[in-house]
Amino acid sequence: MISIAKPQIGAAEKQAVAAVLDSGMIANGAIVTQFENEFAEYIGAKHTVATTSGTTALEVALRALGIGAGDKVLTTPFSFIASTNAIIYAGATPVFADIDPDTFLIDPDAIETALATDPSIKALLIVHLFGQACNMDRIMAIVKKHNLLLIEDCAQAHDAKWNGKTVGTFGDAGCFSFYPTKNMTTGEGGAVVTDRSNVHDHARLLINHGMKVRYHHDIIGYNYRMTNIAGAIGRCQLERLPKFNESRRAHAAILDAEITNPLITTPKTIARAEHVYHQYTVRVAENRRDDFTKHLSDNGIGFGVFYPLSIPEQACYADRGFQTVYPVTDRVKREVVSLPVHPGLSNDEVRTVARVINEFR
Ligand SMILES: *Cc1c(COP(=O)(O)O)cnc(C)c1O
Repeated sequence: MISIAKPQIGAAEKQAVAAVLDSGMIANGAIVTQFENEFAEYIGAKHTVATTSGTTALEVALRALGIGAGDKVLTTPFSFIASTNAIIYAGATPVFADIDPDTFLIDPDAIETALATDPSIKALLIVHLFGQACNMDRIMAIVKKHNLLLIEDCAQAHDAKWNGKTVGTFGDAGCFSFYPTKNMTTGEGGAVVTDRSNVHDHARLLINHGMKVRYHHDIIGYNYRMTNIAGAIGRCQLERLPKFNESRRAHAAILDAEITNPLITTPKTIARAEHVYHQYTVRVAENRRDDFTKHLSDNGIGFGVFYPLSIPEQACYADRGFQTVYPVTDRVKREVVSLPVHPGLSNDEVRTVARVINEFR
């Protein structure tokens, strides 16, 4: 069986966790601070606040930017649900703009249309989906023109770049997830990066019950603190991230070169985007996806369908009156299949994936 994801935990991670356990300082502490400093430096942001997950990082970023009740946040209908749930946790209202069919990323033209329809939109929450940066030339021009706050969901795009600039550093805040299937992991964990010191200060208060001085609570906050155990894993994983991404890119290049089946469309990459292939997502010819995924299963190839439904049509939002028709998303969600490219695979295993795909009729 060739799996769709496999966290890469080695001797360094095990040793680092053992050292934390032996130290007795297993909750939030100095190791997390070291991880935060190293992550900020790596991404090229002034500040990092480590959190319990990518989801809590997104909620904290929105709240730290002052987004709340009465505010509208424009986002993509094609993502993991957390990117929209975070807007709802913050008390704000999500609105959606359709995606580009080639990249699966929010379409700048659709953003412009949404802003023309509703000039009260205050913020833009974009998702660098599957490891590819959104078109940041277009998006930054829109953000400037309409004076929007910009939050980047980088949960699938650690160290992805646009024009050589790392994602997470374009907007007011960037949010990362360190869930085990992501490009790097801390078990569960997340981070907010920002260059804005007031946003950093507010985020730090939010994750620690509004506390600067012990048992003096300035605001109503949360316990979203990362543990030293997670931080220790994160420090090791961050060192290995360039190799992980290099391996994902090499595997993607093999699939690009070797998949020749006309029923399968390989992903389109934009020259200015440095893709980190959190997922390698192909499109299957109309009405053939079920046959294709059965063929993969029959041949021991793992896969994922990210995502089978658009966010606004999810059952949990049925009473919210969201507009639920997004023509591009509604087509793409029926055609996508993500294939194994993770760093735990050998090149031969990736070639096997391509061969099995080429045998599909
Ligand atoms: C994984 C993910 C999240 C949430 O991260 P968690 O750590 O699982 O809470 C948010 N947005 C996107 C696009 C993700 O892929």
